[in-house]
Amino acid sequence: MIRSEPPVRTCTGCGRKAPQEELLRFVADGSELRSSPRGPGRGAYTCRRLACFERAVARRAFARTLRRAVHVDPALARLYTRTR
Ligand SMILES: [Zn+2]
Repeated sequence: MIRSEPPVRTCTGCGRKAPQEELLRFVADGSELRSSPRGPGRGAYTCRRLACFERAVARRAFARTLRRAVHVDPALARLYTRTR
């Protein structure tokens, strides 16, 4: 019997692996980073924690994962719930 496992992706912030549905997905739209829950193209993922987004930005991990220079709009932080 073959079970289909949910796809696992890696957070670009902390490196944690998690089911894709638990993570936020981003793509490069030209040179802008955009939130894109699904769709074609290479995606970069983070946990739903602001800390992971901030760490990914600080490390330029989105650009590394997407293999192109992307501008990260700080307003994307609104996608996250602040944890403490
Ligand atoms: Zn993370």
